[in-house]
Amino acid sequence: MTTLQQPVVVVGGGPAGLMAATVLAEAGCRVDLFEAMSSPGRKLLVAGRGGFNLTHSAPLPEFLDRYGAHREWFARVLARFSPADLRRWLEDMGIETHVGTSGRVFPVTASAADLLRSWLARLDRAGVTIHTGHRWLDLTADRELLLGRADGTQKRLAAAGGVLALGGASWPKTGSDGRWTTILARHNVALVPFAPANCGFEAAWSQTLIDRFAGAPLKNLALSTSSGRSTVGELVITRYGVEGGGIYPLTPVLREELAVKGRAVLFLDLKRDLSEAEILSRLLRPRGKNSLANFLRKQLRLEGPVYSLLRECCPPPAFNDPVGLAARIKRLPIILTGIRPLAEAISSAGGIAMAEVDASGMLRRLPGVFVAGEMLAWEAPTGGFLLQAAFSTGYSAACGLLDWLSRPVPCSA
Ligand SMILES: Cc1cc2nc3c(=O)[nH]c(=O)nc-3n(C[C@H](O)[C@H](O)[C@H](O)COP(=O)(O)OP(=O)(O)OC[C@H]3O[C@@H](n4cnc5c(N)ncnc54)[C@H](O)[C@@H]3O)c2cc1C
Repeated sequence: MTTLQQPVVVVGGGPAGLMAATVLAEAGCRVDLFEAMSSPGRKLLVAGRGGFNLTHSAPLPEFLDRYGAHREWFARVLARFSPADLRRWLEDMGIETHVGTSGRVFPVTASAADLLRSWLARLDRAGVTIHTGHRWLDLTADRELLLGRADGTQKRLAAAGGVLALGGASWPKTGSDGRWTTILARHNVALVPFAPANCGFEAAWSQTLIDRFAGAPLKNLALSTSSGRSTVGELVITRYGVEGGGIYPLTPVLREELAVKGRAVLFLDLKRDLSEAEILSRLLRPRGKNSLANFLRKQLRLEGPVYSLLRECCPPPAFNDPVGLAARIKRLPIILTGIRPLAEAISSAGGIAMAEVDASGMLRRLPGVFVAGEMLAWEAPTGGFLLQAAFSTGYSAACGLLDWLSRPVPCSA
């Protein structure tokens, strides 16, 4: 039996959980938030170390395309809390944002630590009690929350309802370790195995390429897969293979190809501003006494890491034949031999199967228990689509819980 004297609980202090707690507390609920680590928001702070993309300015239809098969589910979630709502909400907390040249949305000056500090102050003002060092262990038969403390003791808590926002399984040292899957599996919630998303891939580079160019960026490439998926972006040569924003949107396709065939092929267009015919006509110009390296530098500005990669991945007969070389410059095959470990990935694919939740994120098998953020089995590329999903699903789950508790819901969709 639930009563509104009982608190509502949020478990997980990442952006999805913090957002759910904010909405619930500001709607008048007594909120207890439990976080396994000694402080909340650790992955958010890690995200803030690089380019901190909070969301993206793409028009909504294009934005929603980034969620692939789960586009329609996200259409409902983003209708409740859109990228524009997020920017206004951040502004309310004193975090101004701007749109970068890539369309990504960044804070103007604030760091992730500034954002987290303002947010925790807002939660404090709204009366949310944050219990750090509390790991959710189970839901008992009488629907109480079983929590384990860092000192080994346990406590039980009756709640009117709750939001779980336990994250995915990449960067486990931030607390997002995916250990919660065993708990939900015990409750017969269907799970999709975790897999790395937005991650690096392995390639068997020569020692020479590694020694000379590990860490070198390759800019303005068109990247594509055997199945025809393509994107434009930057790639970094690493000691183990390749990494970078250009390959992240292709992760699902390359991961699948690796799983089926044991290897995957990434095709690079090294000169996307020139047609193959134009490249060929330049290659057919008289070479004089120039070495091929010098000639390629002068005619096509192919030099440094791009030239070495071309050398490495183009078989000698094609390299020495202008027609073959022009074709490879436009479509250089890079053989990928593996995917980097989940612990290193920016995000994870997998988690709770989307069929297990309703439109607000309530678990069909556990009424009153809502889930949000990266623990759900959707995936999206970097560029702000991950954090937007965490914020919006946290918001939507909180609205769903308010509705379930027959409390006024601040959001319309
Ligand atoms: C290096 C890096 C850079 C990134 N950059 C960006 C970026 O620029 N833009 C972007 O959109 N996204 C970025 N991301 C991704 C983004 O940070 C995540 O998608 C987002 O943090 C997910 O939010 P979440 O609330 O779902 O989960 P998390 O942030 O993972 O939070 C989950 C929380 O639940 C807690 N928890 C787990 N299990 C339990 C338990 N049993 N009991 C209690 N608590 C538990 C964890 O300790 C954690 O605090 C980046 C990620 C990384 C690693």
